[in-house]
Amino acid sequence: MVLLPSNCACDHTHGLYSSPSIRVSFRRQQFQRVSLTIFTPECQKIMSSAGTRVAVVTGSNKGIGYAAVMELCAKFDGTVYLTSRDEGRGRKAMEELEKLGLHPSYHQLDIDDESSVLKLRDFLVDTHGGLDVLVNNAAIIFPMMTPKEEFVESIRKTIDTNFYHTMRACKILFPILRPHARVVHLTSDDGHLLKISGREPEAVALRQRFCAPDLTEPELCQLMEEFIEAAKNGDYYERGWPDSVKEREDTWPNEGYIVSKVGISALTRIHQRQFDQDPREDLTVNCVHPGYVVTDATYQKGEKTIQEGAEAACWLAMQPPSSSANNVPKGAYVWHDKQLVDWVNGPLPSIY
Ligand code: NDP
Repeated sequence: MVLLPSNCACDHTHGLYSSPSIRVSFRRQQFQRVSLTIFTPECQKIMSSAGTRVAVVTGSNKGIGYAAVMELCAKFDGTVYLTSRDEGRGRKAMEELEKLGLHPSYHQLDIDDESSVLKLRDFLVDTHGGLDVLVNNAAIIFPMMTPKEEFVESIRKTIDTNFYHTMRACKILFPILRPHARVVHLTSDDGHLLKISGREPEAVALRQRFCAPDLTEPELCQLMEEFIEAAKNGDYYERGWPDSVKEREDTWPNEGYIVSKVGISALTRIHQRQFDQDPREDLTVNCVHPGYVVTDATYQKGEKTIQEGAEAACWLAMQPPSSSANNVPKGAYVWHDKQLVDWVNGPLPSIY
């Protein structure tokens, strides 16, 4: 039985009921079976423009995100959005790409600002009816030698942007993903589970919690909060969290970055489990380590160009519809050479 609100209009000729918030259509078929389809206005929009595919790359005014926009402009069959938290920096990047003969579209997006993500979602629904590719590239990095008095604050900020705000952007944008959508999270070699390498046996206990097959988002957030608390207390190594100052260069990211990226890798597995239960067909999400890439984040050090750094992310973003004839990666931790790496046990294929 379907209950219709009293403000529904009924059109018997076309078998159509409509109200400001729902639309119900039915067809009487041969054997007197009645099929009913309920469309919310949002669903209608998402389905109505299924022909135009749309890709969004977060934090794409420079670095790997910028190169991902270049690659998608060249190879993705649809509209590609370059986004930036600062509109001026975004427009400048757009001009550079125009000069190269590439024509992305632009939208402002600051993942730290919830209203900015909501605006983008509403814009995408109104303009395109949905989203087909989401590359979560935006992130911040504080160096290893962050002054002691700024250390805890740097950790909080890093976990907020890289983990919590990426997760929030997904919560806002996932409902408008269309069937066969491809989501890619930029992680890092630092996002491998084995990077939780503090004192044993505490570290192994943390790793077991991170890789629990039924790990939930609240449990993952709890792990992030425990790390922040340990950073405040200064006993994070003793509690199993990484502390590799002595082994690393002074420009490398601090532990906040490592834990935020391990969080993103763990979130990828949770997201894929959610997608597997989703009525929309064939949604996939993977996380990718782009390699050691020459960008501002690495103080222009590195081994790869931004184009090389964006290659695996774009490969994942443009995976074809899944079928029995192909092996589309799902919920995987992917190396820059496109190898699927065992996130729980390793080994890592190379240092970076
Ligand atoms: P960059 O620092 O060069 O670029 C980061 C981009 O993210 C910038 O466009 C920056 O904008 C943007 N950004 C930062 N915060 C926000 C925010 N709140 N909302 C929206 N955009 C934001 O970094 P890379 O290109 O090197 O890194 C890209 C991704 O790859 C990151 O996720 C990083 O962790 C990962 N990665 C990079 C490696 C490397 O070797 N470069 C290695 C491993 C992983 P703005 O210009 O305004 O600051």
